[in-house]
Amino acid sequence: MGKQSDALFQRAQDVIPGGVNSPVRAFGGVGGTPPFIELAQGSRIFDADNLQYIDCVGSWGPMILGHGHRYVVEAVKKAATRGFSYGAPTAAEIELAEMIVQAVPSMEMVRLVNSGTEATMSALRLARAATGRNKILKFEGGYHGHVDSLLVKAGSGGATFNVPDSAGVPKELAELTLIARYNDLDDVRAQMSDEVAAIIVEPIAGNMGCIPPNPGFLQGLREICDDHASLLILDEVMTGFRVAYGGAQARYDVRPDITTLGKIIGGGMPIGAYGASKLLMEYVSPLGPMYQAGTLSGNPVAVAAGRATLSVLRNSSIYDDLEERSAEFENGVRAASEKHAVPLTFNRVGSMWTIFFTEGPVTDFASANKSNREKFSRFFHLMLGEGVYLPPSQLEAAFFSAAHAKKDILQLVERVDRVLKKVAWEFGT
Ligand SMILES: *Cc1c(COP(=O)(O)O)cnc(C)c1O
Repeated sequence: MGKQSDALFQRAQDVIPGGVNSPVRAFGGVGGTPPFIELAQGSRIFDADNLQYIDCVGSWGPMILGHGHRYVVEAVKKAATRGFSYGAPTAAEIELAEMIVQAVPSMEMVRLVNSGTEATMSALRLARAATGRNKILKFEGGYHGHVDSLLVKAGSGGATFNVPDSAGVPKELAELTLIARYNDLDDVRAQMSDEVAAIIVEPIAGNMGCIPPNPGFLQGLREICDDHASLLILDEVMTGFRVAYGGAQARYDVRPDITTLGKIIGGGMPIGAYGASKLLMEYVSPLGPMYQAGTLSGNPVAVAAGRATLSVLRNSSIYDDLEERSAEFENGVRAASEKHAVPLTFNRVGSMWTIFFTEGPVTDFASANKSNREKFSRFFHLMLGEGVYLPPSQLEAAFFSAAHAKKDILQLVERVDRVLKKVAWEFGT
């Protein structure tokens, strides 16, 4: 990395654990120093050494419009001049809630929180409150934020650093979390019982790399939940407004009981949301007995960024454009992989994707985990050297935004081609 980033990383490690405020950013999965970012615009980010990268991380999902979208920036500026936070209700919150409810019909009511973690934590509490049951079922490699009960066999940073079961989670709590294999309905059936309050699932896994649901998997979960009078929680923090305006539930036509959102609905500002039918949401305080609150919840600046982002996405051709460009990239990568005889698996749904360094198929955590990390790290660093910023872990999804123009995709394919050639040469084929 550049001199400035190196110096900043040294300094950061003195006062911030690992030098970062979220683990995967520290590059532990690939080695080396992370670039410290100073500026982002459109599809590009710029670091402290003034190096420029095509950004394929997009702040891990929120930046679907690209960085610094004019309309969003204006909305945020305007909101900021009216005060940062009131701790009192606003009209703008209703409008964001109405937009969400219109986009996602299974959410008749929605509560705004400050992060995806808060959303899934609250969704679990709601499921437990409504069913009077304590157990939950999640999937190996599924990540739902750093909620105690959900840090069991978790994806994202835990998987990257080989500690999917966090220290500090009481054993008594972890025991309430059942684990099944993603895309394996037989395994789910074997684990399920009438003590399970809810199944929580990423409808498209994104935190063990991108893994689409097998045909019928989500519908199968719906049926299994119905058979046991358990609730189905779709964690759409990543997929909501990403793979369709109505999220993965619209794309795959499955109706969950509870949905969690985050990332895109804040347009890059901190936010999260959970929602369900009115019947379920009436358990939530002050209507009902389930307590949940937040000093900064519904923050006016975050809500302004979210509203502006959703209103650009609504009725736009952005999803079609994203599909077209992402497919073009996928085709380019596949061609380069064949040309240089570097076996890989390209998983993609719309604009979320992962290049796994394994022959695949990659359908669950075990098959994702077969990827060659050494090759991935080398690929990652060569791409970084080419001015491409990828997620610094094999087990994370990458994203394109509306700001990734055709010419960005062409540049990316050229660079992948050059890099895979080197990888083939270095590793042999
Ligand atoms: C990012 C993510 C979360 C956590 O959201 P934070 O805002 O990081 O707390 C939860 N679930 C999924 C599926 C995510 O991708």
